[in-house]
Amino acid sequence: MRNFSIQKPISFSGVGLHSGVNTNIILKPAEENTGIFFNRTDLGKIIPARWDHVVSTKFSTNLGLDDIEVKTVEHLLSALAGLHINNCEISIDNLEVPILDGSSKIFVDEISKSGLKEQINYQNILEIKKPVRFECDYGFAELLPNESVNEGLNIYLQSNFDGKYEDQDITIQNLNGNYIDSISKARTFGFYHEIEYLKSQNLIKGGSLDNAIVIKDCKPLNKDGLRYENELMRHKVLDVVGDLYLAGYPIIGQYKGFKTGHFITNNLLKELFKSEDNYLIHQIH
Ligand SMILES: [Zn+2]
Repeated sequence: MRNFSIQKPISFSGVGLHSGVNTNIILKPAEENTGIFFNRTDLGKIIPARWDHVVSTKFSTNLGLDDIEVKTVEHLLSALAGLHINNCEISIDNLEVPILDGSSKIFVDEISKSGLKEQINYQNILEIKKPVRFECDYGFAELLPNESVNEGLNIYLQSNFDGKYEDQDITIQNLNGNYIDSISKARTFGFYHEIEYLKSQNLIKGGSLDNAIVIKDCKPLNKDGLRYENELMRHKVLDVVGDLYLAGYPIIGQYKGFKTGHFITNNLLKELFKSEDNYLIHQIH
């Protein structure tokens, strides 16, 4: 696959889920070998969208450099990963990427409408060669080489919602080409009884039933219900795709996780990059 950028600048505006601040972003075409990077135009700071610039992972993935941050990057990065865009400037004039409808659908729709730009050289991809694992007291995730029948990125997740919602698991084989229909519309979610706590932590100031599924007594409070029967699990896949894209490459391999989140996936990438024996960077022609 070749490198991809976008044809022309695309603007988005909206409230940030956690900060509640209004933010404007403009996706801009970028040259080959520039990768994906944020440009905090209000403060004049470039922050590469890479795992080693993650500064916190509490309820969202937040990048930073020299004490300047861009928060909640995962849904936008998930959209770019799903569309195979690997060179893009994201200019942003405030602290947090807009949450929009809580999924990556609006990013995907607008970028698709405006068009991708195929570039000259082939994309570098990262193929998993050795199993890598990160676990903490509540969950774990692994990156494993693909089995011979598999192609691309394959994701297997198991949940445990501790009685707050029906436990589910999900298997998405070869995410390539599958992302737009099966993943991009899945919205972020929260649990009704945790809302007060999150607010007390200065989080979800921009949250509402317009941009999140809220679960009470194991059911969504949103009047139109769910977009997929297992929308919560699909959103977890959406987050994994965005968080993994911080590797700086599309990944070929299997991701297996139990109760995964931004913290676990970011630490898994740190494990991955501890040894060059774990992976091979190459191109598929
Ligand atoms: Zn999310």
